[in-house]
Amino acid sequence: MGFAENCLFCKIAAGQLPSKMLYQDQDIVAFADIHPQAQQHVLIIPRRHIPSMADLTMEDGPLLAHIFVTAQKIAQDLHIDQTGYRMVTNAGLHSGQAVFHLHFHLLGGEQLGPFGRTGG
Ligand code: 5GP
Ligand code: ZN
Repeated sequence: MGFAENCLFCKIAAGQLPSKMLYQDQDIVAFADIHPQAQQHVLIIPRRHIPSMADLTMEDGPLLAHIFVTAQKIAQDLHIDQTGYRMVTNAGLHSGQAVFHLHFHLLGGEQLGPFGRTGG
């Protein structure tokens, strides 16, 4: 169901590649980012292969709610819910998207910097 053969995150979701799994259910999976950009850095993904947020439709509303409510739960589990956190998703060239399977970066555990333009 929505599995892309050549996709890293489809394979992680299917358990075909190892990851530090923090949460999984029928529709979504959350695991630690291999190159953390903050004290806590979790990736939350749908099991279904969606290349990026540019491919979302209105029908994906419940999936997105599911992802965000699960982010709240993970933030509680990691004890960063009181100190705050950030969710980021990239789409396309200028964003620097490197893996073309929709993923939300959940970042926290320390003071985060500003975001947006790089290199002044
Ligand atoms: P993007 O730049 O596409 O928004 O983010 C891709 C993220 O996936 C990066 O933060 C990168 O560290 C992470 N990543 C890439 N390959 C792997 C992997 O094999 N395992 C895990 N856990 N994270 C990965
Ligand atoms: Zn995929």
